[in-house]
Amino acid sequence: MSSEPGNQLWQVAVNAPLNQVLTYEGSSDLLVGQSVIVPLGKRKVDGVIVGIQPPEKSEKESKFKIKSILETHPERPLIDEKKLSWLSWIANYYCYPLGQIMQLSFPPLKKKGRGSRKKSIIQENLSATPDSWLPLTEEQQKVFGDIQASKGFSTHLLFGVTGSGKTEVYLKLLQETLNSGKTGLVLVPEISLTPQLIQRFAQRFGDQAAVIHSQLTEREKTDQWWSVVDGRKQILIGARSALFCPIPNLGMIVLDEEHEPSFKQDEKLKYHARDAAVMLAHKLDCPIVLGSATPSLESWENAQKGRYQLHTMSRRVADRAMPEISIVDLKEKKEEDAEKKKKNDLPFWLSPKLFEALKENLANEKQAALFLNRRGIAQTLTCPACGDTRECPNCAISLTLHGHNHLVCHYCDYHETKQDICSACGDGQPEPLGLGTERVEEDLQKLFPEACIARADRDEIQSREQLEELIERMESGEIDFLIGTQMIAKGLDFPKLHLVGLVLADVGFHLPDFRAGERIFQLITQVSGRAGRHVKPGEAPGQVIVQTYNPDHPILQLALQGDFSAFAEYELSFRQGLGYPPCGRMALFRIQAPEQKLAQDAASTVKLISEKLQAKFSKYQELKILGPAEAPMFKLRNQYRFQMIIKGPSPWELVQFCQHISENTDKLPKKSRVIIDVDPMNVL
Ligand code: ADP
Ligand code: ZN
Repeated sequence: MSSEPGNQLWQVAVNAPLNQVLTYEGSSDLLVGQSVIVPLGKRKVDGVIVGIQPPEKSEKESKFKIKSILETHPERPLIDEKKLSWLSWIANYYCYPLGQIMQLSFPPLKKKGRGSRKKSIIQENLSATPDSWLPLTEEQQKVFGDIQASKGFSTHLLFGVTGSGKTEVYLKLLQETLNSGKTGLVLVPEISLTPQLIQRFAQRFGDQAAVIHSQLTEREKTDQWWSVVDGRKQILIGARSALFCPIPNLGMIVLDEEHEPSFKQDEKLKYHARDAAVMLAHKLDCPIVLGSATPSLESWENAQKGRYQLHTMSRRVADRAMPEISIVDLKEKKEEDAEKKKKNDLPFWLSPKLFEALKENLANEKQAALFLNRRGIAQTLTCPACGDTRECPNCAISLTLHGHNHLVCHYCDYHETKQDICSACGDGQPEPLGLGTERVEEDLQKLFPEACIARADRDEIQSREQLEELIERMESGEIDFLIGTQMIAKGLDFPKLHLVGLVLADVGFHLPDFRAGERIFQLITQVSGRAGRHVKPGEAPGQVIVQTYNPDHPILQLALQGDFSAFAEYELSFRQGLGYPPCGRMALFRIQAPEQKLAQDAASTVKLISEKLQAKFSKYQELKILGPAEAPMFKLRNQYRFQMIIKGPSPWELVQFCQHISENTDKLPKKSRVIIDVDPMNVL
C-alpha cells in the first residue's frame, strides 16, 4: 500500500455507469457518507464515500495505481448510514449504478445566500391564511387512532372510497408527527400535485411545508430542498423524486394514490417510489401510509398476507352520496337506439343515453366531463358486433395489429394472421378502435353549439399555468363540458361537476398489458370520484355513464357495483394462473439498437446468455423466459426495440438473474444495449 501517513483507502460510489464502487486514497479524517470529487480517467466526477476499503481487498488491487480523492463537497450534507443502506438496496434491486443513484440525493444547483430571494408562487401559496381543523368523522378517527398507535416501522394501506376524507387523515397524522418533533414526507403523483392539493397543505401547515414538483425552476427546487434539509421546514410534499431528499429526522411517510403507475420511473433508474418508500420506512423504522380508493393488487395482496395493515373507509364524508354508475352498450343492437341516433345525427361514439344526459345537464347549468383513454397507442382489433378482441392463447393479453393483417403477442412472440370475420361470433368484421379527443370536441360542438367546451389533454395543456387556468374556468362554472384524457381523471375536485362519461372503456381494456383490467377498474372508479363530490344529502347524486362494446365484461360489472375486493379476487385468480405479479414476479429486458439487424442479434445474444445461466445455476430453473419479441412500440427515437419477459415465483432469483445479465452486457454487439426493468409497469 502506497498511502501517505494520515491517509487511508476509501470506497467511493462515483457518478458514472459502473457496476462497482472504486477505491481512492484520502485523508483518514474523511467520513463515510461524505460527498467528494475524484478523478476518473481524464475527468473529475462526483462521488460519495460508501465505506472503508478492507485490507485484503486493497492488496489485490494494489497492482493498480490508486488515485487520490481531489476534494470534498463541503456544502453537501453527509448521507447517513441508514440512507446509504437504503440507496444500496435500490442499486441492487433495480440493477443500477449506486454512484448515479447517490446523485439524486442532492439538489440541482448550489446553495444560494439568503436575502435576495424573490417570493415564488409556492411560497406565496404557502403563506396563505391558515385553515381550521375539521373534526374527524368516526371512520377517520378510527383509522387515525389505529395508525397512530403503531410505533416504529409499519406499512398501512388506507383503502378509502373517493371523497371519504383520506387527505384529512394524512393531515392529522402529519400534525402529530410535527408535534412529536419529527418531520414528514408526502409523496403524490406529479399529476395530482395540483394547486388544489398544495393549497390544502399550505392552509394547514403554513410555512412549515415545502413543495417540490417538476414545474419549478432548478433554483426553486434547490431552495425548497435546502429549506427541508436545513430544518427550516418540516414537511416535504413532492412527486416521486422527493423520496431522495435527505430529510433529517423523518417520522412519517405518506404516499397518496399508491396505485398510480407514475410512481414507477420509466427512464434511467427504473425504481418504484412506493416500494422504495416502504423500504426507506423500514430502514428508518418509521410508519408509512399508502392511500388509495383502488389499491394496486400488489399492495392489496400484501395487506391480505398481513404484511401491510389494512384500514378501510367505506363512506364519503357528510353522507354525500356515491355517484350512480351505468353502463351503456355501444353495439347498435336495439332498433330504438339506432333510430334515436339517426334522428339526432349522433356520432358513432355517442349513445342516446349519454346524449340525453349531456342535454339535461346543460339545461340544469351543471358541468359534465367526458374522458377518453388514449393510452392505446398499440392498435388492437375489436369486433363491432360482439365486442370480442383477439388475445394471445398463451398470455391472455390482447394481440397487436402490425401492418394490415398481422397479429402479434408482445410478451411471447406468438403470431397469427388477421381473419376477416370475427371468430368469436362469426358475424362482425374486427377493426381497430380509433377515436381522439379532438374528434369528440368537434362532434360535441356541432351538437351543442351554445355550450362552452374545453379540452384537456397533453396537446392542449402543457404547462402548469394552463392547468391552473383550466381549473379556474371549471371552478367558476364557465365551462359546460370538459373533454379530456386520464390527465384530468385524477385528484381534481370540482363542486359543479355532476355528470361524467367514459366515452369508450374498451380502449383501456385492450392494451397489450396484463394490468389492462386493473387499469380500467381504477379509471372507472377514479373518474366516478370526480362526479357529484359535493352533493348535499337529499340532492341527486353524481352520474357516471360508461360506454362500451363489452357491457358484460366481469370487470365492468364489478366496477359498476363498486366492489373492489370482489374485483381483486377475480383479477388475482387470473394472474395466479399465469404467474403475473403480484402472484409471481416479473422483469423486462428491453434490447435496443439503432439498426434492426443489430437489435435482433443483441436480443438473440441476451436469450442465449439467459439460457446458459439457467443451465448453469439451478436457482434459475424456475424462471420463465418469454421472447424476445418486438416491443409494442418497435421503433422509438431511432432505436429498434425488442423485449424479453422474465417471470419467477419470488423476487430473489429474479433480481440475481437480472444482475447476472447486467454483468454480461459486454458480450452484446456494439451500439446495442439491454435495459433492465425489475417490476415493470410499462410494457409498451
Ligand atoms: P379523499 O382524499 O378520500 O378523496 P378528501 O380528503 O379530499 O377525500 O375529502 C373529500 C372532501 O370532504 C373534501 O372537500 C374535504 O374538505 C371534506 N372533508 C374531509 N374530512 C372531513 C370532515 N371530517 N368533516 C367535514 N368535511 C370533511
Ligand atoms: Zn403471448
